[in-house]
Amino acid sequence: MAKAYNPYENMLAVLENAAKMLGLEEKQYVMLKYPERELKVSVPVEMDDGSVKVFEGYRVQHSSVRGPCKGGIRFHQNTDINEVKALAAWMSFKCAVANIPYGGGKGGVCVDPSTLSKNELRRLTRRYTAMIAPIIGPEKDIPAPDVNTNGEIMGWVMDTYSMLKGYSIPGVVTGKPLEIGGSLGRPEATGRGVMFVTRELLKRLGKEIKDVTIAVQGMGNVGGVAARLLHEQGAVIKAVSDVSGGIYKADGLDINEVYAYTRAKRGNLLKDYKPSKGEVKHITNEEVLTCDVDLLVPAALENAITADIAKNVKAKYIVEGANGPTTVDADAILEKKGVTLVPDILANSGGVIVSYFEWVQNIQSLSWNEDEVNKMLDKQISKAFADVWDISKEKKSTLRLGAYMTAIQRIVRAHEIRGIFP
Ligand code: GLU
Repeated sequence: MAKAYNPYENMLAVLENAAKMLGLEEKQYVMLKYPERELKVSVPVEMDDGSVKVFEGYRVQHSSVRGPCKGGIRFHQNTDINEVKALAAWMSFKCAVANIPYGGGKGGVCVDPSTLSKNELRRLTRRYTAMIAPIIGPEKDIPAPDVNTNGEIMGWVMDTYSMLKGYSIPGVVTGKPLEIGGSLGRPEATGRGVMFVTRELLKRLGKEIKDVTIAVQGMGNVGGVAARLLHEQGAVIKAVSDVSGGIYKADGLDINEVYAYTRAKRGNLLKDYKPSKGEVKHITNEEVLTCDVDLLVPAALENAITADIAKNVKAKYIVEGANGPTTVDADAILEKKGVTLVPDILANSGGVIVSYFEWVQNIQSLSWNEDEVNKMLDKQISKAFADVWDISKEKKSTLRLGAYMTAIQRIVRAHEIRGIFP
């Protein structure tokens, strides 16, 4: 039987390669192989029928050397400690690539939230927040949304933490609703960042977005918004998918209609989608990843592009909207095939960049308009892209290794300046 996929090992493999390429000594980066702190909690929830269920949850703080830990909370039935550890490390690298003053952290609860009522979900969120409260806070570790969590849930996190402290503390969490200190532009920020990064890539390749055909895996907050904004810039979106499967149209989907359909009602799945005009072909998720497009945006979960799928990928460019969608083996195959891949820690950093803007507004009691936020995001992520592109050219490496090298250099330097306590 094939060895179970462990995203933490995936992270370690890339870290080692990048450190080697930088010529670092082991003692300079060894601490990045271990999270600073791991907390495991058992979260009891009183269910609507009066029974009590206990869910396992985690908060991992990978590195705080460049600033408070930062990273989302996911609710997913397959979440485990190795996944959360990998995601926490990727946040450290992401914040370093984006050059925002944060380290990395991540949280998760092993639960399928679609099986819970809204009241159960709220009780789960509040109890989980109370149990991780000793280690989070605006100066320590700042959660945000991730897979299956959203602004409403962040509002409950903010309220629970504030109640425990006795006063309102909006800066404890980002991705909040606007009314309680959220930032304009935050809900779309990750998808918008994917669009900016795609634009920067194509610019360097001498291509225009309108000449590019695209497939997007995942129609959630990242994939859905990225598909809509790339389409707005003139790209032809040939295929998209959600958990139920994919849809394909050779001359381009009506992406605004598809987007509206997926948002119209909870539970609206693409397998049941019928366009108002013309026809779409219903295809599998795997077919979305391997269809005849120029550019692929995997924006669902880890481990989507495996070695078997990589062999059949036809796209020449990949922009990773999800965290860790490509396995190490798949990466090697794609490199050999000459595919240019913009890695997750750069491509999806738009979310945490605007989270940083939200936190800055919170701690200074300011509020910026959406145009300002979007422009600042463009500037920050385009600079990150340029840094990664330049080091990749200099070292003749993939963009993934270029992004890791950019991040590791910054984190290692911060470690050297601070020294090891005591
Ligand atoms: N969950 C998002 C990510 O993986 C956002 C994290 C944040 O805003 O802190 O980047």
